[in-house]
Amino acid sequence: MTITKDKVVSMHYTVKNAAGDVIDSSEGRDPLLYMQGHRNIIPGLESALEGKGQGDKVEAVIEPQEAYGEVVAELIQQVPRSAFEGVETLEVGMNFQAQSEQGPVNVVITEVADETVTVDGNHPLAGQTLHFNVEVVEIRDASEEEIAHGHAHGAGGHQH
Ligand code: ZN
Repeated sequence: MTITKDKVVSMHYTVKNAAGDVIDSSEGRDPLLYMQGHRNIIPGLESALEGKGQGDKVEAVIEPQEAYGEVVAELIQQVPRSAFEGVETLEVGMNFQAQSEQGPVNVVITEVADETVTVDGNHPLAGQTLHFNVEVVEIRDASEEEIAHGHAHGAGGHQH
């Protein structure tokens, strides 16, 4: 069996940034479970895994546009400190949910000045080229329920 649309794939993976630092890994955990063709994972990784078989080891270098997108300058904003009324300490790295025209977005504080706070609403991995090492552990057909839900069920996938 090979990886095609509506197959449920379990895989071990390690992802590094361009500097070679490990960003995330399934090592020591259950393999990640996802369903091919449903955007459960980034598009570049889906493309790299299409047609692969059980036991295959896949190395993929994925550019930002096929991963978490480029950094969008408009999502980096300076807001007055008064916008954080009630928050005692403001520190770089703190996460908040902000309201935008597109609905709530998660932002992280990247700078705190006397009058203003800089927040960044980009995905933490936006603008990064990702280096994946994947081992395909198992491939199976998705159930009708999984296809209806748009995600894989079971350990390493959605459990509900
Ligand atoms: Zn479900």
